[in-house]
Amino acid sequence: MDNIYLDNNATTKSDDRVFAAMRPYLTNQFAHPSSPHLLGAKVREKIEQARDSVAVLLGTSHPDEIVFTSGGTESINTAIKGILAAAPTRNHIVTTKVEHVSVLNLCLYMEKHRYRITYLPVDRQGMLNLEELRRSLTDHTAIVSVMWANNETGVVFPIEEIGEIVKERGIIFHVDAVQAVGRIPINLRKLSHVDLLSLSGHKFHGPKGVGSLFVRRGTKLHSLIVGGPQEGMRRAGTENVASIIGMGKAAELASIYLEEENTRVRQLRDRLERGIVDQIPEAGINGNRNERIPNTTNITFSGSRAGKLLKGMEKYGIYATSGAACTGGLSPSHVLMAMGLTPPEAFSSIRLGLSRYNTEAEIDYVISVLAMIANNLKTGVSLLSTASA
Ligand code: PLP
Repeated sequence: MDNIYLDNNATTKSDDRVFAAMRPYLTNQFAHPSSPHLLGAKVREKIEQARDSVAVLLGTSHPDEIVFTSGGTESINTAIKGILAAAPTRNHIVTTKVEHVSVLNLCLYMEKHRYRITYLPVDRQGMLNLEELRRSLTDHTAIVSVMWANNETGVVFPIEEIGEIVKERGIIFHVDAVQAVGRIPINLRKLSHVDLLSLSGHKFHGPKGVGSLFVRRGTKLHSLIVGGPQEGMRRAGTENVASIIGMGKAAELASIYLEEENTRVRQLRDRLERGIVDQIPEAGINGNRNERIPNTTNITFSGSRAGKLLKGMEKYGIYATSGAACTGGLSPSHVLMAMGLTPPEAFSSIRLGLSRYNTEAEIDYVISVLAMIANNLKTGVSLLSTASA
């Protein structure tokens, strides 16, 4: 069997049609999109088409609300820093303990620069207490930034309800939707309380190094990158033309495949979980199973180190990561720890992220390989513990 890729929360395979759409803009159609001649105008038109496709995927009728960036991290930095710069009298940020490092490390940085941060806790299911959110908001709060879907567990936060609470206080609301876009439906016409929303092309079969920030009309935001007038003065610099066009194509395809993501991919993920739980008594699923993106599962294999499991899987051509991938597996996952798992439990957990490219045959193979490896590790662990007793 070919390699089996189950690391789709880290990044996804670019769709062949994405590369085909990008190719001309890396070769003969190289004109500058701001040049006033015909060649420039043709490139500009393709960028605007890409903007339209992203707007459709996000469910906004205003493509001018889409700003192209270099990815999720830049979108998040632009949203948070841009709002703080535009509201200099406010010095408080509210976020959660389970955010991606692009939010958490930015907040740690802001803490060193006169800002106060509230990190909201989550329960064992990875869910927020909305009353706690309500209590955390003050007249000094400039922005609330929460993720839509967690990158380690797939747990989804109730964005509509959170938005309502945030707007009761007239505070700006940013959503990190990097893991949600292309996996669950997003309708920003309906979610009128969301002011800003970040996304990244490489998480929905588009190119790496390109993303977007949705900025609702009327939101006062300072640009992070200052220079030329591109992107409506919200992100200076010559556009990454080919990647933007590629992400536009990926957005167009994501709108088409959203249904499949929610049916076939969800069924595959559920089949994988069922198989693992049935065959491996030490396996337990982390996070709220009803409130999750359809492609993700995070599983603790009590008594087995994730690193060993993953190495064993790799020998069989199966590629996944542990929840602690960002820290190289040296410290336990901050997400699982925030959910109340112990360090040994967190170190025994892996994340499996599927995509539309996975098949049922692959899933069945993964279940049998994992069952075999977990069993071998268990025997090894018990032998070791007997030896040291
Ligand atoms: N936010 C979340 C939830 C993510 O999972 C990631 C990437 O893994 C990011 C932000 C950062 O996105 P990018 O890789 O495009 O900078």
